[in-house]
Amino acid sequence: MKIYIDGKYCGEKNAKISVFDHGLLYGDGIFEGIRAYHGRVFKLKEHIDRLFYSAKAILLDIPMSHAELMRAVVETCRENNIRDGYIRLLVTRGAGTLGLNPNRCKDPSVIIIADHIQLYPPELYEKGMEIVTVATTRNLHSALNPAIKSLNYLNNVLAKIEANNAGCEEAIMLNAEGFVAECTGDNIFIVKAGQLMTPPLSAGALYGITRGVVMDLARAEGVSVAEPNLTRYDLFNAEECFLTGTGAELIPVVKIDGRVIGAGKPGPLTRTLVDKYRALTKSSGEPIYE
Ligand code: PMP
Repeated sequence: MKIYIDGKYCGEKNAKISVFDHGLLYGDGIFEGIRAYHGRVFKLKEHIDRLFYSAKAILLDIPMSHAELMRAVVETCRENNIRDGYIRLLVTRGAGTLGLNPNRCKDPSVIIIADHIQLYPPELYEKGMEIVTVATTRNLHSALNPAIKSLNYLNNVLAKIEANNAGCEEAIMLNAEGFVAECTGDNIFIVKAGQLMTPPLSAGALYGITRGVVMDLARAEGVSVAEPNLTRYDLFNAEECFLTGTGAELIPVVKIDGRVIGAGKPGPLTRTLVDKYRALTKSSGEPIYE
C-alpha cells in the first residue's frame, strides 16, 4: 500500500508522522471518509468541501487548494490500483510543542490512505440491525461542534463502546436536550406515514453526505422529507428505520432499545432507497482511470 503524506508516497511501514503532531497529542485535525466505486470516487467534491468547512471552523490552513486535494485523492487511488475502496483523508495541525498552542505548529500535514472497508457484517444489510440508545450524549454546539469532522472522536468512541457492551454494532446518541442527534458514525432516518424524517443538523447531527444524497433520492421518488426534532418515542413508533454513512451506505434498523421497528424487517422504502443509492454509486463520481 502506498500512503500519501505531504506530497510523497510512503510504504505502509514508513508512513509515519511526528509524535509532536498535534493530531496525535490533542486530536487537533480534521478528516474525511470517502468511497470509491467502480473506478470512480463518489461525491469527492462534497467531501473536500466539508473538509474545508471543518478546517475553517478550527482555523486550520490546509496547505493545498480544493483542486489539488481532489487530484491527490484520485492519484492515491490510482497508485494503489483502487477501483472499489475506502479513502481516509486527514489534515493534522502538524508538529508543534507539547503545549496545546496551535500557533506553534507551522506545517499542517495532509495524509491520504486508500484501502478497503467492511463496516458491518454483510448479513446485517439483509436482516437489519439492532441498535441501542446510549448514555453518552452528543457534544454541544457550544463545546466541540458535531458539524466539525475533527480527529477528536472520543465522544463517538465512548458511545461506540457502550453499544458494543450492549452487544450492538451502533448506538443512538441523544443531544443534551434529549432529542435524537445521530449514531456514532452514521446519520439516522425513520419512515412514518410514508414520510421520511431525519433529525435536523441543529440537533447535533453531522452534515452527512450520504444523508444529503438519500434525501435527494427520496424526493426524486416523490417521497416528502422532513427534518423535525425526533425523540426515542418517534423512533420506537416508526414504520421503518435505517442509518446512512459513507462507510455503512444504507443499513436497515429493525430493533431499537428492545422495541421491534415496523414489521421487524427492512421496510419497502428502505429497500427502494438502498437500490437507488447503489445505482447512483455505479453511475457517478470522479474518474480514477481515464
Ligand atoms: N455521523 C458521524 C458522526 C459520522 O462520523 C459520519 C461519517 N462516518 C456520518 C454521520 C455519516 O456521514 P457521511 O454520510 O458524510 O459519511
